[in-house]
Order: sequence, then structure tokens, then C-alpha cells
Amino acid sequence: MVKVAKFGGSSLSCASGFENVKEIIRSDADRKIIVVSALGKRHSSDAKITDLLINVCFCAKNGTNYKKEEDEIKSRYIETARSLGVRLNESADFSFLKDVSRLSCAYVVSRGEYLSAKIAAEYFGCSFVDAADVVRFDSNGNVDYTVSEKLFSQKVSGYPLVIPGFYGAFPNGEIKLFARGGGDVTGAVLARLVKADLYENWTDVPGVMKADPKIVPDAEVIPYLSYEQLRLLSSSGAGVMQEDAILPVKKAGISINVRGVKTPFCAGTVVSSQRKSAEKGVYGITGKRGVSVIRTVKHSDARRETALADIMRVLEKHGVRIEIVRAGEDAVTVIAAPSERRAEAVVDELRRLPVFFGVFYRDDLSLVTALGAGAKDVSSILNALEEKNVSVRFIDTSPSGERFTVAVDVSDYERALRAAYGAV
Ligand code: ASP
Repeated sequence: MVKVAKFGGSSLSCASGFENVKEIIRSDADRKIIVVSALGKRHSSDAKITDLLINVCFCAKNGTNYKKEEDEIKSRYIETARSLGVRLNESADFSFLKDVSRLSCAYVVSRGEYLSAKIAAEYFGCSFVDAADVVRFDSNGNVDYTVSEKLFSQKVSGYPLVIPGFYGAFPNGEIKLFARGGGDVTGAVLARLVKADLYENWTDVPGVMKADPKIVPDAEVIPYLSYEQLRLLSSSGAGVMQEDAILPVKKAGISINVRGVKTPFCAGTVVSSQRKSAEKGVYGITGKRGVSVIRTVKHSDARRETALADIMRVLEKHGVRIEIVRAGEDAVTVIAAPSERRAEAVVDELRRLPVFFGVFYRDDLSLVTALGAGAKDVSSILNALEEKNVSVRFIDTSPSGERFTVAVDVSDYERALRAAYGAV
């Protein structure tokens, strides 16, 4: 039996995290492929190594000094390695920090996972396999499974092994990163490559939670989900697993087990093609704080289709992630992902289009979504929001009836989420 086990940065933020993960790996000999992230935050005001590395690239590009970030990155890895009794070759391992402006940003950022995996492999007593040698992208930036499978069988001679998450390489060896949180994708890709029996995704909460435990402390673990339900939860704001990590395992029919490093005795959440029939009704309450709302009003003689096509072209051009689109007779409203930095450029461009009479923008709303909500749940949620004096600014239901979303003021976000959770 082969299990791929992925551990995120919050589980590997310091030496004690590595110690805990080592125990987890040791307790099951089937955990043969271990995927790790760069060191994450040790506490809420701490920095993630990936963010520090991104800052380093940004400074190098702008010709500004990044000594502070450089020192912090080095000291965190050196301290972690030293506490674990692992030797780092400091001059070689950190040489990339001397040459940042001559290296690609993807390469520099990938060093976070690379160094974590080096330390983890030695400390866990596993072999180290570089993701650049086995996760291969084609020229369009998609994972090339045929080539990756071949490379994997050539490079890997035995288990257990540790491999850095979040990156792979193009055929010319150039490093390419997955989107943020992409260690989850590496785990899923490897599970598919080796036809694993299970993909374990270890995180800092006991499983996929019915609501964000930071806002709803008594939120329960969801025991079973289908792939589609997990994808909907992830895309509606549950920060549990990177959305792109679901498809590779779904295609291969491999189950995912989301589990907590602090609660290894809990079974966590099992995600497979079938959700257990006992699990009916609302299975998750998620949300997004501070979404961008763009409302356009077209001239009355302009065609609605023209207005919609113009908006979509501009959003597509700027790569904006759309949450909800509502097209009325004269107005089209688009709700885009939180802190969508491109929103202002989009609004400027829309304002210059002749089809629109007015373009309005705000970013002080939040979305609260109930997944699996039936008509009764919808009315209970609306009643609960009214009872808590939360003003509902907008309501949206997906055509399948699977997703019910309300937009509320940012200041009401947490209250609304708790009220919705309590109502179902
Ligand atoms: N270290 C990367 C990030 O912070 C990837 C990951 O953690 O999965 O996004």
C-alpha cells in the first residue's frame, strides 16, 4: 500500500513541528511519499518563508535592499536544522540569496520548499527527491503526466522519500511554481503518478471543518465529502485545500484524507467519489471577507449582451477571479475575489467604454455561503441573520440549488457566519 502524505507550512514551521510529523510518518509504514511546504508561520504575526522569498524577489527586481528578509530566512532554517541535529551546508544552501537578480523568481521562491524538504529528509531518515526532477510541465504549463511518470520511475529507487511541494520544471529545467498553496497540488499529482492508495493531506485543523474554527470555535469536522463538495468548499472560501489539488486525484479515483497534525487520533475527513448518504443537508458554511463589487449601468439603448461581453472581456484581460455575476435589464453586477488588486484598473477601463452610463465600485461587502442548503435551510439562515440585525445586501443561489450565498457588510461578516452556522 502506498500513501502520499502532504504536510503544510503551518505543520512545519519550526523544529517541534518536524518532530511531530516524524511521529506521524513513523506510525504508518505505508506513508511512503512525504511532500512538504516551506516553513510557515509559528504564530499569527509571524512571516511565511514563501512570503519572505517573494519580498526578496520584489526587492531584487527594484534594486532595493533585502538584508532583513535574507537574515530572517537564513536564521529560521539554520535554527530549525540545528534544533533537529541536521547539518546544513550554509554556503551552498543559501547561495541563491547572493544571486537573486540573476535567477528566476520561481527558482528563488521554490528554495523555501527545497530547504524544508532537505531538512525533513535527513531528519526523517528518508531519501530526498527534487520535485524539479520528477514533476514535469509541458510548454503550456500543464503537468505532463506521461513524462513525469517516466522520470519518477527513473529517479526513484526506494521509499520512503521526501519531496518538496509547490514546484516542478519545464523540459528545459526552468522552475515553475503552482499557484499559492500548491504543495497540495504536488501531493495530488504524485498520488496520481504512483497510483497511490490514499492521498493524506495533513493540516493544522482536525479535518475539513463545517465552518472556519477561528470564527466558529465549536465547528465540527465534516466526516465525508465528495470531490465536488470539497471543490465547492475550497472555491467558496474554506482555506482547507488548494482547489487545483482535487482534479488529479479525482481523475485517478484516489481518496483524500484530510487530517490534523495536532489530532492524529481523529479520522479527519474522507473525500471520495461518493458522499455517505447519512450526510444530507448543509455540509459547510464558508465565506469571503472584503469582496470587490463592480456594478455597471448601461445606456438604455445598448444591448445587454454587448454590455456583458464588454465586461467579461475586460475581466478576462485582467485575470480577475469572478465569484458571482448578476445581469439585470440595465445593470450588470460582478462580485470578484477578495482584495482583487486589479479591480481599480478594471473599473477605469470599464468607465472608458461607450456602452456604460455609470460604473460603481465598492469593496466593503463579504460573502457568506451555505453549501448543501435546501429551501428550509435558506429560510432559517435568513431568519437568523435578521434576528442578529445583519443587513443582507445581495442574495445568490446556484442553479443546482447546492450553494446559497448572501452578501453582508464586512463589519457584519463574523456575526453573519456564526448566525448562519447556528441556523442549520
Ligand atoms: N509555500 C507555498 C505557499 O505558501 C506553497 C504551499 O505552502 O503549499 O503558498
